[in-house]
Amino acid sequence: MPDSTEFAGTERVTGVDRWLQRLRGAVAPRRHNARTIAALTGNPGCHRRAVLDAAGVDKPRLAEHIGFPARFGQSRFAITRGNAFEAQVKADGGVELLRLLRERLGRPIPYAAFTDLDDDQPASTPEPAATTDTGPDESNEQRYERSQRLLSAAAREPASGDAVIFDHPLLRLRVAGQPVYLEPDLIAFRVDGRFHVVEIKSFPVIDGQADPSKVSAAAIQAAVYVLAMRQLLTDAGHDPEIVSHDVLLVCPRDFTNEPVAALVDVRKQLSTLRRQLTRMARVEELVAALPPDLTFDLAPDRDGRPTRSPAALTTALDVVEARYAPECLASCELAFYCRHEARGHTGALGRSVREELGGVEQVPTVLALANGELAPAEGQAEAAALLQAAARLRAEALS
Ligand code: SF4
Repeated sequence: MPDSTEFAGTERVTGVDRWLQRLRGAVAPRRHNARTIAALTGNPGCHRRAVLDAAGVDKPRLAEHIGFPARFGQSRFAITRGNAFEAQVKADGGVELLRLLRERLGRPIPYAAFTDLDDDQPASTPEPAATTDTGPDESNEQRYERSQRLLSAAAREPASGDAVIFDHPLLRLRVAGQPVYLEPDLIAFRVDGRFHVVEIKSFPVIDGQADPSKVSAAAIQAAVYVLAMRQLLTDAGHDPEIVSHDVLLVCPRDFTNEPVAALVDVRKQLSTLRRQLTRMARVEELVAALPPDLTFDLAPDRDGRPTRSPAALTTALDVVEARYAPECLASCELAFYCRHEARGHTGALGRSVREELGGVEQVPTVLALANGELAPAEGQAEAAALLQAAARLRAEALS
């Protein structure tokens, strides 16, 4: 495992970087976004995902090329609806949002200044902010610096009961040593000296209840933004804790477009994210255990198709240990391949099954133990007793 460090231009290139480049091959790394960073928390024990994500391998393209294309994502209709709802919540300088803030925080909040960091044009501030619009070609770094400057200036202002709302801040997180720019459709607002992240989602709240899995996914994405905002303000010399762990989740009520809001505590999601990002930063330990010639190179031919055969790529995938669970279907582009590979293993039936049958890896072994056709090996006695009891109950129920 090389451990030397050298400099290419202004960029620091480490031995791990070179290994990750080799794993990725002669293509540009696929960048993370808030959804992919949030998905990292979905299956933290999976080495395959950790290595592929750290190397920036294009997983959707890889899955498609090996014949197991990913099938998740929003429909065009859902995206259009989501965009319309978001625009409605932010319209007129955030009037609707201000109403929701008053309602949720239980405070009068007499006034809100609204600044869109994307076009840098304050909508309701009495005086324009002293900023420079660097135009449509400005780099992410310039946009990030502008967001940092304006958010940092707001953090220095004395606390007041008025709100300062920032739309489209450009944030940045380091994932596996690489800077990832996050361009949320969200708003960050500051009131009484604290920033809160606002996440606007188009899934409905029906009779006061929303789909728990969607709320959970929204909370993880919001936690990504909280973490990135804390990093931005820390780098500017502020206390990161001025970004609250309570995020404002805004959704439509019932089947109307009327927005409702709830404060969601994302402390648990923040600690999971931190743990996972730290783990990815130590990806060298995983990479060191891999064969030196392993690669997932998706370099295309003249027709745009990867030159390496699907068989060569699946052979490469099989080298890196996976930990499939049904939850992968909602969060990882390789889920159909890994599910196919895990067929016949107890892990494919879910984490709780894997844990309860600890030490029994194969479904045929489970069936043989349940039927009493196989004597339990060392450490399997408890699982075997449970399985036999379950088999008896099932037989009774069926008869
Ligand atoms: S789908 Fe496969 S690679 Fe992705 S997290 Fe699950 S087991 Fe890991």
